[in-house]
Amino acid sequence: METIGNTIQIGTYGNRIVEKMTENFKLSSHSNSLGVLEKARYIEKLKLVQCYCPYIIPENFWKYSPALAGFIPPTNKEEIFMHLIVKHSPLTLEQYRAFKNLEAEKYLERQWVKCYAGLPLPNGFIVVKAKLTHSQSTNDPPLLPWSALSRDHGQVIATHCDCIAGLGEVCFHIAALLYLIVEANIRLINLPVTSLP
Ligand SMILES: [Zn+2]
Repeated sequence: METIGNTIQIGTYGNRIVEKMTENFKLSSHSNSLGVLEKARYIEKLKLVQCYCPYIIPENFWKYSPALAGFIPPTNKEEIFMHLIVKHSPLTLEQYRAFKNLEAEKYLERQWVKCYAGLPLPNGFIVVKAKLTHSQSTNDPPLLPWSALSRDHGQVIATHCDCIAGLGEVCFHIAALLYLIVEANIRLINLPVTSLP
């Protein structure tokens, strides 16, 4: 595991709040395996989000449904469009224009989502991760996209996926994760008031 000196907030767990970490900045074996440019970009994203690499954060820090319900950011389809189409790649400086990945909503319909969880951070962001099966081969290891979003506005702050296309930050799996958040919001809005936490 490689470390980079930094001060990092690791997040919250239940009602026990804010561990401010002054330890080194830890990277996962996946992030360590990235090429030079991609790794630099990955570290830039972690600094932006102020979080360790989500792939190494222990499971007991993450909130799963139903505990996650009160933390889902108000992300909508317009925000997904902004992220997949309008934003510019920091590596190529070109607009993403990933129109095909707008179709990722079908991932949700076909039950390729194994599970998802969220990590609320003290800085107002939440990191949401998912485990998705491959659409072509269910025997391959699951894909692990994550996205950091602002909890108040649902804005996408950073994204990553461990597939090859995920380095572009707008792959099909990242898109599916964002649709999952939108759907979780809709389900939450439609819950009877007495069901809310
Ligand atoms: Zn991907």
